[in-house]
Amino acid sequence: MPNCTSKSAAMPVLDRLWHRCRLATLSSSRPGLGIIEDGIIASRGGRIVYAGAAADASSLLDAQERIDCDGRWITPGLIDCHTHLVYGGDRAGEFEQRLAGVSYEEIARAGGGILSTVRATRQASEDELVASARPRLAALMAEGMTTIEIKSGYGLELETERRQLRAARRLGRECPINVRTTFLGAHALPPEAKGDTAEYIETLCRDMLPTLAAEHLADAVDAFCESIAFSPEETAQVFSAARALGLPVRLHADQLSNLGGATLAARFGALSADHLEYASDEGVAAMAGTGTVAVLLPGAFYFIREKQVPPVDSFRRHGVPMALATDSNPGSSPLTSLLLAMNMGATLFRLTVDECIAGVTREAARALGMMTEVGSLEAGKWCDLAIWDIERPAELVYRMGFNPLHARVWRGEIQDRQ
Ligand SMILES: [Zn+2]
Repeated sequence: MPNCTSKSAAMPVLDRLWHRCRLATLSSSRPGLGIIEDGIIASRGGRIVYAGAAADASSLLDAQERIDCDGRWITPGLIDCHTHLVYGGDRAGEFEQRLAGVSYEEIARAGGGILSTVRATRQASEDELVASARPRLAALMAEGMTTIEIKSGYGLELETERRQLRAARRLGRECPINVRTTFLGAHALPPEAKGDTAEYIETLCRDMLPTLAAEHLADAVDAFCESIAFSPEETAQVFSAARALGLPVRLHADQLSNLGGATLAARFGALSADHLEYASDEGVAAMAGTGTVAVLLPGAFYFIREKQVPPVDSFRRHGVPMALATDSNPGSSPLTSLLLAMNMGATLFRLTVDECIAGVTREAARALGMMTEVGSLEAGKWCDLAIWDIERPAELVYRMGFNPLHARVWRGEIQDRQ
């Protein structure tokens, strides 16, 4: 009886197979975007088991679901590797005031600026923080984002920092996305510190950081090293404490002035140094030596009308990988679009199309220390995909305010089928 084979032997080995698609694999083993014109992606258990040319995959026929992509493009799911997505309130009123001619100093004296967000975040419950972050997250997901980094930094005391990180973790449990959390207690000096930076940093290193690390709420530690925030010495103190706890570090570095942030980040083997408008050639060389990724944030550059462009040529010359992110935050970058971040990366920073797309996929994964999990279409990684109605990858960078996403796939499951 030829049909009496056991049922399990006849079961499809694949969960899902996408065929007749064009792939931008972002594989580092191929030049540029790693383009495959007639491609196939196969998934099992949420992971990619094959991503490559159809011609090489003749054995991959049995799948529970076969999806004809009709020539659409597939990229890795997009990654936003630098956000402050979870916070209370917003700063639209302040934005309006500034446009009407009120100075930043006047707004700050009246309790505005970052401390107004700190106040609103301290007053918000975890439920409220989650609820207010959800629409921003939804906007990013609607453009194919599948992995996001979310920082704390609007609590500036243990309870609220913890609540922010818990809210971020919860978004990761409740929404079909990968979340990486970062503790940014060294974002600003809280008002109750009354100017005593040393004492605040001491408390942060002695109490806040070890407590949050023990609760596994932070995947990394960040700091804002700037004349208006924390000095290189104070930043080094935070980083030493983080490294002693086994946590990787990243840094808001050289955004408004050159304090040697890039060099400092490299000294601690930082995963990334972010902003970097004023980074020196020496700092860039140091980053190259430690594999520290340059995370460029054109949304903030645009919104606060910066003039100094980050040293893109220097990153290229030294072989420093470049990522792009939204820096989504209420004060300096209320941006929830990686597509627009790519367009700004190209128009404002003169990144190429390939650099922009790699910047929100493979290089963003590198900046999060997630290269083995996400960021390219390669066997073994999570099957996180963005499927696009486009004729060529350049369209993802070229348009402004247009979303050509056809479907988003997270861990092999189709989330938003158009
Ligand atoms: Zn930031």
